[in-house]
Amino acid sequence: MRDRLLHIFQETYRELRPRAPIPDLAVEFFAFVSINNTIRMREGKLFVRLSDLLEGAPDPVLRAIAHILLAKMYRKPIERAYATRYRRYISGQDIAKKAHLVRQMRGRKRIESAQGRTYNLETIFADLNQRFFYGLLARPRMTWSRDHARNRLGHYDPAHNAIVVSRVFDHPRVPCYAVEYIVYHEMLHLKHPVKLRGSRRCVHSLEFQAEEKLFPHLDQAKAFLKHL
Ligand SMILES: [Zn+2]
Repeated sequence: MRDRLLHIFQETYRELRPRAPIPDLAVEFFAFVSINNTIRMREGKLFVRLSDLLEGAPDPVLRAIAHILLAKMYRKPIERAYATRYRRYISGQDIAKKAHLVRQMRGRKRIESAQGRTYNLETIFADLNQRFFYGLLARPRMTWSRDHARNRLGHYDPAHNAIVVSRVFDHPRVPCYAVEYIVYHEMLHLKHPVKLRGSRRCVHSLEFQAEEKLFPHLDQAKAFLKHL
């Protein structure tokens, strides 16, 4: 297969650039997230990667891909017949279905959700917002972390405007007040953005700390989290 593929690329190269010497070529199938084919020149060698969804494609289709990629590389016009043949092939029922399936598996979007097995973070946020913030805080995205990391209870991710709580705490043996405390702490971060005091970043300012003390189960929550 590899030799045949190489041969197809060499022949196609010959057609496109009859007089130029054929460079070293490496062609391989690659598990892209979706149907994708790439060509690159590095140190005089051409590296081609074809979507592994095209493994088993008939020669004329591989020839079409070789033409498209090499034409792109050398800025030659792409012959319409090749473009059509390639397009027809990848939009065919089977390959389209296969591509869709693979995309779902490989590109699986982080499944993030506020609803855990035990606790729903959006509900907790809404409740705390009413109890402690007059309902005034705008809710960011609430999500359980993907992993079960313990080193970070929770954090606010400004890039995604999300409060992320470690999934370890989504468990019936974790009391509700412990989860509430973690969320409450992050909500205080929303309310008290990090200030610069001189050159020092002040993450937990005095106002922050004072307000944290208003949480009714603060000591229990801290004790529980410490011994988890
Ligand atoms: Zn903090």
